[in-house]
Amino acid sequence: MKRLVILGGGESGVGTALLGKAKGYEVFLSDKGKIKEKYKDVLKHNEIEFEDGQHTESKILNADIVMKSPGIPDKAPMVKQIRDNGILVVSEIEFAAKYTSATIIGVTGSNGKTTTATLIHHILKKDLEVGLSGNIGKSFAQQVLEQDYPNYVLEISSFQLDDIVDFKPHIAILLNITPDHLDRYDYKFENYINSKFRIALNQTKDDYLIYDADDEVITEWLKSHKVQSTLLPFSLVKTIENGAYLDKEEIKITIDNNQIIMPTNNLTLEGKHNIKNQMAASTVAHLLKIRKQTIRESLENFQGVEHRLEHVLKINKVQYINDSKATNVNATYYALESMDAPTVWIVGGVDKGNDYKELFQFVNEKVKAIICLGADNEKLMETFGKMVDTIVETQYMSEAVKIAYKIAETGDTVLLSPACASFDLFESYEDRGRQFKDAVRNL
Ligand code: ADP
Repeated sequence: MKRLVILGGGESGVGTALLGKAKGYEVFLSDKGKIKEKYKDVLKHNEIEFEDGQHTESKILNADIVMKSPGIPDKAPMVKQIRDNGILVVSEIEFAAKYTSATIIGVTGSNGKTTTATLIHHILKKDLEVGLSGNIGKSFAQQVLEQDYPNYVLEISSFQLDDIVDFKPHIAILLNITPDHLDRYDYKFENYINSKFRIALNQTKDDYLIYDADDEVITEWLKSHKVQSTLLPFSLVKTIENGAYLDKEEIKITIDNNQIIMPTNNLTLEGKHNIKNQMAASTVAHLLKIRKQTIRESLENFQGVEHRLEHVLKINKVQYINDSKATNVNATYYALESMDAPTVWIVGGVDKGNDYKELFQFVNEKVKAIICLGADNEKLMETFGKMVDTIVETQYMSEAVKIAYKIAETGDTVLLSPACASFDLFESYEDRGRQFKDAVRNL
């Protein structure tokens, strides 16, 4: 019996353990930290051997193959030892993809993955049997085991891509690349870029790479590296013959001389970044020959994803928007860009070495007041203090929302778009977004 060792007892790890066991492996799962009770119960119930709070070397180094969960860095001493012993290390998507013959659509990028993957799934499910997995919901491994689909839309992070060997999506989407997670890439942006492009590593000319032709990081990389994939770029500013582009108020997508035209005024998702996401998603659907009317209708009735420029409520003609998922400056850039009313901006949390310069223009043009919320308020107060008439700070969401309510006037927007991580005052960005929504509803 082959021995599968799994490092990390979260969603990916437990999913892989279940799939591995079903496929005849002797499975051992080890987590140096604490495994959540709900996962422990699953492991016990399925008679899978596991440990937490430690790594028992003798058991781990006895593996034929190791699945490393995405949260574990390569620098971890245990991972180094495993590699030094010549044991193959793979990621969950590599392992799980071996057990499905499905057509895979893989979405990666620094921002917009969840939105775009959810939208692609929303369009395709009208005409195809399709699963949505990866970083969203149930792990891919568990999905393959419990109910395999002929098609999958997978949200894929760079960490999942780092440990692929043969994995390839038939259709890959690379949305954008901006610096993120550099602590895991020796603080070299280049390493992170290479990691993102691994999505196309094993593709052949029969596979597709859909990418943002306006993103210079992507286009520069493509100039100096070879990919086998058939390229389908999308652009907001250039005419694209094979791929998608914005022509005034219309999105035009051409694949093999077959064109679909979609007016942008009927789209539900707002903001330039969402035009890009919608272009990428529609390109996938057009490629898979989904009926044009289905694509148009799906874009018009897509409700968006919670915590991403989510419209919460209108009170006294003031719109409240929850963009709690904006955990980096680039995501907030697009949020501010899409504001067309004077904005009361709630920002802050754990600063990840943020450079706020790229926001200055929008703050000058659109923001009337700033409410700083979180551990790194001081830097925000210093950076933006002279740019707006009103800037205040607090450590409470309910207070932040009350202050915003007092400042905002008819026609304004109150936007929570933190540009920072949430771990100072909240459990997660979801918790932060929910607290914001609760506070708004309690006004
Ligand atoms: P991810 O899954 O990559 O984190 P999400 O879809 O969850 O992306 O969106 C994260 C944040 O980025 C949200 O604040 C959202 O408004 C913003 N965003 C969405 N799409 C894009 C894009 N194409 N470019 C930049 N920011 C985006």
